[in-house]
Amino acid sequence: MNLSSAAETAALHPWNRSGDIAAAGLESWVQGRLARQSQLIDALLSVQGQKSLENTLRPYDDAVATLSAAGSLASLLDSVYPDKAVRDKARELTQVVAEAATALSLNQEVYRALAAMDMSLVDPATTHYVNQTLLNYRLAGVDKDDATRAHLRELSDKATELSLTFAKHVQENVNRVEVRDAAELDGLPADYIRNHPADEQGVITLTTDYPDMQPVMTFATNADLRLRMFRAYNTRAYPANRQLLLDLLAVRQEVASILGFASWADLATANQMMGSAANMKKFIGELEQASRAGAEREYEMVLAFARGQQPGLAALKSSDRGYWYEQYRRQAFDFDSQSVRPYFPYAAVEAGILETAARLFHVSFQRNQEAGVWHPQVSAWDVYDRGRLCGRFYLDMHPREGKDKWFSAAPLIPGIAGRQLPEVALICNFPGGKAEDPSRDRSHGRSDDRSHDPGLMQYSDVVTFFHEFGHLMHAILGGQQAWAGVSGIATEGDFVEVPSQMLEEFFHDARLLASFARQYQTGEPIPPELVERMNRASAFGRADGVRTQLFYTSYALDVHNLPPQTLDPDALLEQGYKRMMPYEWIDGNRMYASFTHLIGYSSNYYTYMFDKVIALDFFGQFDRSNLLEGPTAMRYRSAILEPGGSKPGTQLIEDFLGRE
Ligand SMILES: [Zn+2]
Repeated sequence: MNLSSAAETAALHPWNRSGDIAAAGLESWVQGRLARQSQLIDALLSVQGQKSLENTLRPYDDAVATLSAAGSLASLLDSVYPDKAVRDKARELTQVVAEAATALSLNQEVYRALAAMDMSLVDPATTHYVNQTLLNYRLAGVDKDDATRAHLRELSDKATELSLTFAKHVQENVNRVEVRDAAELDGLPADYIRNHPADEQGVITLTTDYPDMQPVMTFATNADLRLRMFRAYNTRAYPANRQLLLDLLAVRQEVASILGFASWADLATANQMMGSAANMKKFIGELEQASRAGAEREYEMVLAFARGQQPGLAALKSSDRGYWYEQYRRQAFDFDSQSVRPYFPYAAVEAGILETAARLFHVSFQRNQEAGVWHPQVSAWDVYDRGRLCGRFYLDMHPREGKDKWFSAAPLIPGIAGRQLPEVALICNFPGGKAEDPSRDRSHGRSDDRSHDPGLMQYSDVVTFFHEFGHLMHAILGGQQAWAGVSGIATEGDFVEVPSQMLEEFFHDARLLASFARQYQTGEPIPPELVERMNRASAFGRADGVRTQLFYTSYALDVHNLPPQTLDPDALLEQGYKRMMPYEWIDGNRMYASFTHLIGYSSNYYTYMFDKVIALDFFGQFDRSNLLEGPTAMRYRSAILEPGGSKPGTQLIEDFLGRE
């Protein structure tokens, strides 16, 4: 379908060209989508005689695509829309769409129709789609009796409601740290201090939003300020989310039991590459062993260094970790991470990452000023593949009050070859964006107006941007499949973090960085020796980084693998932390209350570490001396990104690597 067709576009999105949405309009848009879905399912069920792809799978897939877009767009507006009334309506409608999707997933008549299709002479992608769909029906409990299916629906609807409320609390509850003595900000970058002036009472207020929090943890010399920020950040949405989490875990366990699984973690891995909770435990155990000695050594090195600066220091607390790592890297690797921030003003990084992806994957991006967006900070971009329009993305990259607090890529509309173009949004919280001026100079991200915040990013922010853009390219280039159900990032869930983490690796290339990372006042490109020092310094702490991921991974598994009736999320957090991390535990850490991955990934946080292994293996195929121009990128595009979810993950891996 052509995106420029105004009538069709109006039906695709709940907003008009000006981006305005009212709660009532959103409601009628979603109801329209639900009615369309019902029509499609009715048509499918009314087929007499032989079921075929055309008379059964096509309406089923269109129904899935309709529900998917309605749910994704409602969920997007819940995450980003400035008006709380619309956000609340969007959350309510996200629930309604999820309930419709659950009803469809337990519809026995639809299951029987799909199972009765003539599958002779069907291509492998379609066969894979149908097999996965039938498997997912069985995992949902479609073969249970009426009363059990009704109960499963109730439980699923309850889980959706608890999940949405948990996420809402994290999104809306920002904690604040008050600073009464400006000297407490010592060590922080000058532009950070300038952007946080004191009020009339002399109080400087810092929020737990990422661009406020992260620099404090990395740069503030004042240990007490870091501790206060740590506590503020790790008590977000507490205590409200503690009980919600326990309720959600109980519901999930009941679902798993009804379906014949020992735990939710077993159910949630049954259709994944991982296969079972036992395999996950084994994977965690192997990484735990492999990383232990390295992490202990790193800790001892940093502690010894810190004691040299502060004699008598007993141990490092969780809240000291970022700061002392930074100090150690300055001394051991002659690398001060503040020294690269001026090369990473937001606008130049955005332009540079788009340019990198365009060259790598042979596509082009055009800003679309006509497309409706939900906030003036948001930009819309059309993607062209060899001159052919092939999708659209939206960038919503800076914090706002009431907006989601994390970094994610959200597929909005699944692509269907020849019928519908894929759309995806990035929802991030990077520095900058306070002046909402779409005409800002993007040439080299220069800014002569010193009062304007250029949005200087830490290098880890730039890595995150590459990560999210990897998801985005997967959604667009994989979004050209014949069926919505296998379109874009619809691989097994535990393959999803491969394309994102693969693209992260490109950040370390000095030549690539120099193409866009220019000092925001002078325009000087980032010097190669600075990049080399940055790479060496950031490589220190890898074992510690693995342990941190393992701490999250184990926690996500344990809460979904232990009996929920006796589960104490606080005790489990403390035990898990002490098992994996060498730093002193900080009492009152309620990190689980804002750990939104427990909602979305449930037990499967292992996906990050599992996919990191695959991503690094993939990156090893690229020619390091010629990252952008060699043939590997296009081979990667066609073997990994373009198939979307039309093949099993293990097959994608073999297609690209020629081995397991
Ligand atoms: Zn990701």
